Amino acid sequence: MRFTYTAAPMRVVFGAGRLAELGAEVERLGIQRAVLLVTPTQAERGAALAAGLGPRGAGSIPLAAMHTPVEVTEQALEALRRLGGDGLVAVGGGSAIGLGKALALRTGLPQIAVPTTYAGSEMTPILGQTQAGQKQTIRSAEALPEVVIYDVELTLGLPPALSATSGLNAMAHAVEALYAPDANPVTSLQAEESIRALAAALPVVVARPGDVAARAEALQGAWLAGVCLGAVNVSLHHKLCHVLGGSFGLPHAETHAVVLPHAMEFNAPAAPEAMARVARALGVSDPVAGLFALSRRIGAPQSLAELGLREADLDRAAEIATASPYPNPRPVTRQAIRALLGAAFTGAQA
Ligand code: NAD
Repeated sequence: MRFTYTAAPMRVVFGAGRLAELGAEVERLGIQRAVLLVTPTQAERGAALAAGLGPRGAGSIPLAAMHTPVEVTEQALEALRRLGGDGLVAVGGGSAIGLGKALALRTGLPQIAVPTTYAGSEMTPILGQTQAGQKQTIRSAEALPEVVIYDVELTLGLPPALSATSGLNAMAHAVEALYAPDANPVTSLQAEESIRALAAALPVVVARPGDVAARAEALQGAWLAGVCLGAVNVSLHHKLCHVLGGSFGLPHAETHAVVLPHAMEFNAPAAPEAMARVARALGVSDPVAGLFALSRRIGAPQSLAELGLREADLDRAAEIATASPYPNPRPVTRQAIRALLGAAFTGAQA
């Protein structure tokens, strides 16, 4: 065995009600004028949290958008300068956290991330931003938040449909970590536990969104999945989702949910050890069938067609996805990826 593993230097504050410690964490980082970053729908929460920081709260910027468009980041950068901010607090899903990373990369300011979905971006040094219809990925230590506050209470209001798709988004990080070219014993343990926790928690979370214990287990699974995503290189599944989100505007979590079982089915013959671990974590004998079943059980969308992709786009999607492929356990050909996308388009299980 031979591997190189770099652990990310960050502080994780986990538990119900821990957002109450935001002021202390802001102070710990020496931030004098914190700026809150949220999506437009969370504008009130952003303003209230900024006000709650008293003199250390400079204001909030409710501009965060999916796939981190560069135009939005530039607008937010102007607002940040106007507010005189010297630290960033991103509260929300991957969109708010993505904006925090984009601003930190441009300013070097410290960041606190407070995730409210299961996307996992808070644990990674990766920023995916979009410009002119293409999603570009940057990996930089500057993008990594210094502190992450996981407050389970903030996830209680995550609607069941988004809980399901966001949970599968997390699971995708863990699945691909198991067959990553730079997989190692630490990330593989984290990935397997992440899949187990998510598979156990998501059906409960969807049935009873206010179940704090299930929410805590799901969030813990999402945290571990994010750690994996930050530590290894991802493969075909993530490539396909980046293309479908970045070039065709498909929604992030939903796309991950639809594509994951198909990407797993494609890679399964070339990644038997990883698949054995997925099966063990899901408590099933056939990991691909097990994942399709879990996805249906939690009500996740089953086809790219229902997410708004047009059949006419499939050829171009296959072309973009195979032009500069990510490392993958099974060799990627345009014809095979077109077939995979065709199955994901209709939701057909082979
Ligand atoms: P999101 O952040 O866009 O959130 C989806 C919607 O749900 C938004 O309207 C948001 O305001 C709302 N929302 C969030 N939390 C809520 C809650 N607890 N209750 C009610 N509503 C809530 O979606 P996402 O799936 O979390 O993130 C997607 C984005 O994150 C994409 O841009 C993706 O590229 C990025 N991402 C990046 C990484 C990385 O490592 N760089 C990893 C995962 C995702």
